[in-house]
Parts: sequence; C-alpha cells; structure tokens
Amino acid sequence: MLNSLRAIVQAVAAASDFSHAVGVLVRDVRSALGVEVCSVFLKDRHSDRLVMVGNEGLADNAVGQAILEAGQGLVGQVAKRAEPINLDNAPEHPNFHYIPQIDEDAFRAFLGVPIIHHRDVLGVLVVQQRTARRFDEAEEAFLVTLSAQLAAVVAHAQATGDVDALTNENFDRRNACFQGVAGSPGIAIGQAVVLKASADLAAVPEREAEDVTVELMLFDRAIDAARAEIEGVGQQLASALPPEELALFDVYLHMLDDAAMADDVRNRIRRGQWAQGALKQVIFEHVGRFEEMDDTYLRERGSDVKELGQRVLSHMQDMRRRKQHFPDNAILVSEEVTPSMLAEIPADKLAGVVSMRGAGNSHVAILARALDVPTVMGAIDLPIYQVDGSQLVVDGFYGEVITEPDERALRRYGELMEAERGFNTELESLRDLPCVTEDGHRLRLWVNIGLVSDISRSLDRGAEGIGLFRTEVPFITSDRFPTEQEQRALYREHMEAFEPRPVTMRTLDIGGDKSLSYFPIVEENPFLGWRGVRVTLDHPEIFLVQVRAMLKANEGLKGDLRIMLPMISSVDETLEAKALVEQAYAEVLDEGLNVKTPLVGVMIEVPAAVYQARALAREVDFLAVGSNDLTQYMLAVDRNNPRVAELFRETHPAVITALRDVARAARAERKPIGICGEFAGTPAGAVLCMAMGFDVLSMNATNLPRVKWVIRNIKRREARTMLSEVLKMGTTAEVDRYVREQMTELGLGRVLPSHASD
Ligand code: PEP
Ligand code: MG
Repeated sequence: MLNSLRAIVQAVAAASDFSHAVGVLVRDVRSALGVEVCSVFLKDRHSDRLVMVGNEGLADNAVGQAILEAGQGLVGQVAKRAEPINLDNAPEHPNFHYIPQIDEDAFRAFLGVPIIHHRDVLGVLVVQQRTARRFDEAEEAFLVTLSAQLAAVVAHAQATGDVDALTNENFDRRNACFQGVAGSPGIAIGQAVVLKASADLAAVPEREAEDVTVELMLFDRAIDAARAEIEGVGQQLASALPPEELALFDVYLHMLDDAAMADDVRNRIRRGQWAQGALKQVIFEHVGRFEEMDDTYLRERGSDVKELGQRVLSHMQDMRRRKQHFPDNAILVSEEVTPSMLAEIPADKLAGVVSMRGAGNSHVAILARALDVPTVMGAIDLPIYQVDGSQLVVDGFYGEVITEPDERALRRYGELMEAERGFNTELESLRDLPCVTEDGHRLRLWVNIGLVSDISRSLDRGAEGIGLFRTEVPFITSDRFPTEQEQRALYREHMEAFEPRPVTMRTLDIGGDKSLSYFPIVEENPFLGWRGVRVTLDHPEIFLVQVRAMLKANEGLKGDLRIMLPMISSVDETLEAKALVEQAYAEVLDEGLNVKTPLVGVMIEVPAAVYQARALAREVDFLAVGSNDLTQYMLAVDRNNPRVAELFRETHPAVITALRDVARAARAERKPIGICGEFAGTPAGAVLCMAMGFDVLSMNATNLPRVKWVIRNIKRREARTMLSEVLKMGTTAEVDRYVREQMTELGLGRVLPSHASD
C-alpha cells in the first residue's frame, strides 16, 4: 500500500498541470484500490458548491455536470462533517442524492473522504463499487492518507486559480490575488522581473544524461554564450579598467578556447554524464590542481577557473536567460529574494519586491523597508515563472500580489497610491519638529540602518540618532571579512553624517538566516544555534577588530558611541563581551588615539534575557529590545516561515507583557531602555511602548514620520489607558481590535492603511 500511495502522490505532483493531475489521481486510485469508480469533487469557493472535476468509471459527461449544493447528497455530507462516510449501500441512505445525468445508482459501495488543508475542507475524494460491501479499514486508511497528502496540491491549485478554472466556467484569470504577508509598506504597480538564485557548481548533482546529443549541444551553446558575454563585458569596461585587470578577460577567453578542458567535458558527456555534472567534475579537478600549486599566482588562477565554470553553468541552467534589462517600475520576484538581488536592480528602477519564501520579519523584508520599497513576502502560491514580464500590483500593507490587474483594479490601486503620496508629503513638514506627545512627553525616535544609502533618507526624515546599525549588512555584501580599515571608514561615514547624534553599533550578528558566503554555518536548527554574540565570543579576533574599528571611527566626534550586543542570553556572556570591549579600548588608547569610552548595552531578544533584565541592566549602560527575535523565541514561531507567519504577532499578550516587564526592569535599575525591533515602527507598537516607558523607539526610516505623527497626536495619558486595557486581554485578536478602534476614535485612523476592497 505504501508504495502505491507514494507512486500516486509522485505521479500527481509530476503532472504537467492541475487538470492532468486530477486525471492521473482518479485513474491511479481506481486501479490501486481495484474499484469501479473514483471521483474528485472540489469546492467552488464562491458558491460553496461541490463540483465534480475528475472521474474515472462513470459516464463521460459526469465531470462538470455533477454539482452539489453545500451539504447536499453524501458528498455534501462528507464535506459538511469533515470526516469520511463509508457505506455498503449508498442509494438507500437518506442523504443519497440522485443525479440523473451521471447514472450512479447502480453503485452500492461508497467511500468518501474529505480533502482538508489547514482546517479548510477543499473537496471530497470518492470511490464506489457495484457490489454492496463496506470498504475495509485498510482501504479507508489508504484514502484518508492519500487525501491528506494531496491537500497541499489542491490548496496550491486553489491559490493559483487552477481550481476556479475547473469549477467555474466563467472564471477570469485576471486580477488573481495571491496572499503573502506584508513585508514593506506601500503599493507598487509594475512589471515582474523574475530573478533566480545564482548558479552554484557545488550544488549540481551527478546524474546520467537522458540524451547525449542534447547535452552536448547544451554545453556548446553555453560555451558560446559565455564567450560572447565575456567579450561584451571586456569591451564595455575597456576604457574604465587598467590593462592588467582587463587581461583577466583574455585569460577567461583563453581558458574557454582551451580545447583540452572543453574536450574533457564533452568526453564525459559522451560517456553518459549529463552536461552540468560533467562540467562540475572537470572544473573541480582543475581547481584542485591549481590549489595544490606552490606559486600564489597560479593558485589564484584556480578561482578564475571556478568563476568561469559558474558562468558556463549559469548559461546552461538558463539558456533562455536574456541579458537582464530592467524596466522602469520593476517588481523583483524570486523564490527567495536575497540582499544581493536587491542590490542587482538599480534603485531608481526597483518599484516593488515579491518573495515566495520568508516572512515579514525576515532580514530581506527589513532591508526592503529600509529602502522604502513595497514588499510582499511568503507569496508561496504565486506561479512566479509564469508572471515574468507581466504586470503586477504589490500591496505591501496587506501582503497581496495581484496578477494582470484590469482597468478597474489599476484605478483603485492608483487612487490608494495617490492618497499615500499625499499623506507622506504632509508628513514631511514634521521633519524638524520634536517627537512629543500632546501632553508634553518627549520620546526619542532613532533609526535602524544597514546600508550607506539609508543615511540621507534617515536624516531627511528627522532621525535623532541611530538606534541599530546592522553591521552584518556590509559583511553579507562582501566576499570576505572586511578589514579594520574598511570597517572604520564605513562606520565613520555614518557617525560623521549623524554627528552629534548618538550612534548605536551592533556587533556582528550572523547565524540564523544571516549567513556569510565565506563563513558558512551549517546547522540543523540555526535559530537555536551559533548566532549573534555566541559566534563573536568564539571568534575574538573578529569581535576585537570590529570594536576597534567602531572606537576609531568615533575619534574626535561628540556623538555617543553605543556598542550593542545581540542575542545575549546570560550575564556571563555580557561580562565576557564587556571584557573584550575593554581590551579593544585599551588597545586603541595604546595606539595613541584619543577615543571616548563607549557605552555598552545588550539586546533583549530571548526569553532568558527578559527574566534577567534587571541583572543585565546592572552590568550595562542601556537595554534595547529586539522585538523581532523576542517574538520569535517567545512564541516559538520562526520569523522566516510563511506557513506560521500568521502566528508571528508582537501584539500577543505574552509579548506585550514581556515588553512591559523589561521596561520596568530597566527603570528599576535607572538605565535607559529602547526598542529596535520592527514593532517600534508600527503605530500600535509605538503607542504601547511609549506608554510602557520606553525612552527610545528605533525603526526604519520609512516608518519614522508616521510614528512621529501618531505620537504628536496622542496624549501619554490616553496611551497609558490603552496599555492598561491591553494588559487585561487574553488574545491577540482582542488586542488588535481594541487598539485599532481606539486609534480610530482618537482620530489616528489615517495611519491605518486602506485596503483595495474598502
Ligand atoms: C530584532 O531581533 O528585533 C532585531 C532588531 O534584530 P534583527 O532583526 O536584526 O535580528
Ligand atoms: Mg535580532
């Protein structure tokens, strides 16, 4: 049974489209169970009716003809009760509903099981037989298991519109709405540009060539394409590069024309290896030979060979890939958008971003917010390779992607964009006004930063300091650890731009979903693994270089340097890291530089730190809550996983209580407290944190003017009343509803974005 189950699931998954998949399903189930009839009914989500979309064994016209109202017939009952019905004589059952066109009253034995995905009944799978007999337990278990495995396929087809196409004759694919999660606020209309992750030779599997001639042709074409590309780039850069750099292009061309290497690949293909595998073998053998050489120059040629191999591979992997030309208003779409992809599209052309993977607090979403680009994350059902080049609407407020919008949709989204633009222009006038409540309570609004391009945007929006410099960003976009000099120059640029405002430098926070290509960390459970300060305490050479660079960058400036430690989970780690900061400070003084003592603080990002907030506060100069990780760890919800994105809620009563407790602990130790997670940049988060007594809210530059507007239009007293009510609530839904209502009542509804259907 297990084998036929697996075979059916695989055959269904391999079908060219959903309607074929349904055909394969009914055919294979019928033969696996040796029954006379197998049918699939799917729910038309607009009418709730169950429509037969696939059948093997009944009259040819049954498909599309058999339609049952909700609850009607045995099939309707299976869907209504959300459990199987197994009968030996179906026509005698009071719920049996006779449909003349399909003539099924000759079939007595009936077994129907629901197809359920995430609690939703999507349809019913039915088998029938003439003989009056009850299907045995093994048959029932088989069908239930199969249905559970197929549910994800049906759910995906429903989200892509494939189910609608089968259940509804008049279905129009335009304006299909794909749900993801909000990544970065705003609405964008533009043309989809689908980018794939770059080719990786190491990831190529070895396997047999299906057709040697085709593989040989593929290889030769890829070589030609790589040659043309290298010649083109060489010509383009001829005037910009010195001759010794340009010589590299000749080296590449020479290697490509080297018959020995190419023939080696061809021979392996002729012996049966597919082209990608043969290329990988030959390249790695050559690289290995170069790496063994004593001469440094020759050793480095190994990396040229590898680079060349990657180029040929990428042409092979996508022979049709056109030379990327980015349209105006490009919407970057990818299975998993990476920070380097964001950098690939010129900023003036990038209008929006859609990633199938990741969620609202993934680091790519955070970067997109810093860039002010409307973004939807976790759009798992979007058929990305079909939308390439077509028009899309990205609703970054509600996490929706609309494909092929019609005139009406374009008008509606255009109006919303216009209203947003108007509000943003109004907010510009707040730039130089203080962030103070109507009853005079002053709050600091700082900015989270990671890219140099954030500097002017942050200052333009009135940031009063940097509350979080994500120093890992320059590490991620480099191909080796940046040197002390490089780091110092980069940090200095930020500090000078913000002078005399305070600048909070977080020490390197890698691990989890932030990896460095040149320092891979492979773990089963990376979010509970070697992350943040755990890595840098184990590598003092990295930590010390970074801290020295921070201290030196601050030389001669008035603005406070605040060094912040990520992922602290104990007092011991704090003391160890502080000792290293002191060591670096002494070293810099020894070098004769006149630098100020930095302030040192810890991030509160894990539950252990919440419970030890007072003990930690005693040891440091400030606390800052990283509510993204704190929410992830409090609620045990992966911040990157779109499947549980709905559960990632900073307004969960447990998270709110934790924030309140940390604020109390800091106050008890008379230490300043800030919050630099994304919650700080939401209207609700800003109001509640202000009421809790947070001194600093640090957020992306995009959200800053809105938060300032909210704070300037509310009294601290009102915020405190809201907080005390919220603290009595037991569910996230209650909190969200109440905060929304209160904000609307207080006249703050403008910061709550409208939806296209409003
Ligand atoms: C956080 O976890 O809230 C935080 C600010 O750090 P990051 O998002 O970079 O992990
Ligand atoms: Mg964090």
